[in-house]
Amino acid sequence: MPTSSKQHRVIKWRSLSSKRLAFLVATSVFLFLSGMSFWVGFSNFTTQKQHLINYDSSHEMNSFNASKKALNIHAKTIFQTSIYKDDIFKLMAKAYHGNTQVKDKVRTELYHKLQPIYQLLQLEHIRQLHFHLPGGISFLRFHRPEKYGDNISSVRYSIVQVNKTKAPISGFEEGRIFNGFRHVFPIIYKDELVGTVEISFSVDAIYELMTHSNKEFYSLLLKKDLVKEKVFSNERQNYAPSAISDNFLVDRAVEGMKSHINAIPKNRIQQINNALNGEFLKQLDRQCQSCNFMINVDQTYYLVNFFQLKNIEQKPVGYIVNYQEEPGIKLITENFLQHLLINELLLFIISLLVFFFIRNQIRQRRLLHKMARTDNLTGLPNRSIFKRALNENIKRSNKKQWPLSLIFFDIDHFKKINDTYGHLVGDKVLKKVARHIEDGLTHKDIFARWGGEEFVILLPNTNLQDAEKVAERLRHKLETMTDFDMQITSSFGVSDLRPVDTAESLMQRGDEMLYHSKEHGRNRVTANPAIH
Ligand code: GH3
Ligand code: MG
Ligand code: MG
Repeated sequence: MPTSSKQHRVIKWRSLSSKRLAFLVATSVFLFLSGMSFWVGFSNFTTQKQHLINYDSSHEMNSFNASKKALNIHAKTIFQTSIYKDDIFKLMAKAYHGNTQVKDKVRTELYHKLQPIYQLLQLEHIRQLHFHLPGGISFLRFHRPEKYGDNISSVRYSIVQVNKTKAPISGFEEGRIFNGFRHVFPIIYKDELVGTVEISFSVDAIYELMTHSNKEFYSLLLKKDLVKEKVFSNERQNYAPSAISDNFLVDRAVEGMKSHINAIPKNRIQQINNALNGEFLKQLDRQCQSCNFMINVDQTYYLVNFFQLKNIEQKPVGYIVNYQEEPGIKLITENFLQHLLINELLLFIISLLVFFFIRNQIRQRRLLHKMARTDNLTGLPNRSIFKRALNENIKRSNKKQWPLSLIFFDIDHFKKINDTYGHLVGDKVLKKVARHIEDGLTHKDIFARWGGEEFVILLPNTNLQDAEKVAERLRHKLETMTDFDMQITSSFGVSDLRPVDTAESLMQRGDEMLYHSKEHGRNRVTANPAIH
């Protein structure tokens, strides 16, 4: 049992501990709730973000496909209205059956006949109007009229197919010069296939048709190997290296197309391409069907959609890349951060309240606990606590064969002090005596108020001789106390633990020794006789 100055320290430590305990609980509550709030907020944020990305991405894809369909219909209409004509088919039959001179003549005639239509088509981003003779021999390229006679069947699956099936075919295809969405129609004159014609439009034609609500940019990535394999070496300047990946080339015509008002500036596109790091490239090389990446450049979010492009043979040949500014992400992010901040603030306040509540609860409980264990006036342990300590010490001493001694003391003629100076002074005397005795003991000694002006001290691991010395020292200490005008003395009784002793018999003997001191003139120490 600690002495009361030590108890002060203990109380201080305990109050610190209650603070620490309350702090731990409040911090745990804060961390747990913050974690939950962050988790809920973050999963909401990612779901919203994903929805927005998916919406943007599918919206882009859908409008791309819708525009492509519209251009397909357009190409078919052009064929039906401008080419599917008797005179043109007749010319092609003539060219097919004629010699070089006839072919040259027909070529010039055909060129002049369709040149006005071709010019009109160009305004609508139709890239190619190309006639071929059976077997895939280039006959007239409106975009390169001087280049003809070459056999393109090795690079043009669509033409081989139309030659074979005599039915029209359409789809994306690379060519000797350009790539494009091609429509190849058979030219059948008098039940004989006399040639084929294709009407193609480029990716930018599709983009031109689409509405762009956000700031956008687009580009066409084609596999490098494919371009090397299919495109005339002197036409490869139509393609440029891609900043995104070494395995792809970009179509200059698409990149360089005159920008619509809402276009993302090219230098920004460069920054976005640089930000598409190796991880993204890995996905790209793994041939994803549709990948999208969110890139943040200078606090602006850009959604980059990669839509896989399959050729007429259904082989993946590259990607249509759509870049679009996405202000919604910034909004969602700001919203998420704002909510997070407000939540954290509220949780902090709640945790603070939890802290104060718990701290007060702990303090109150400890105070009640302490009040139940200590004497109000002196702050010393009370009788019941002393008894518990006595029983424990008797057990320990018996077990370890340690000596144990007990000192009882009672202030002499205390009634007279009360009567002469009043109860308040009496109380002060009791407190002073308690402090003086406390100061004269070691931390292992247990000092309690037994009742009234009677005190008891338990001295663990102390033999009778030493206990007697302690009692004598304390007696002297009280006798020489100068706090009050009167001299205060006490009578002491000392007993030591014997093998047959119980707590009661040990105390009984101590009390008897005290009585003996009172009987023999007070202000003295009497110890029970030593048994060995
Ligand atoms: P003795 O030397 O024989 O011990 O004489 P005494 O007067 O000290 O003993 P007695 O038992 O006759 O009187 C004890 C007195 O102590 C009686 C009681 O009023 C007083 N007392 C007991 N508890 C308190 C207390 O808490 N405060 C004050 N002021 N007096 C107390
Ligand atoms: Mg007394
Ligand atoms: Mg008494």
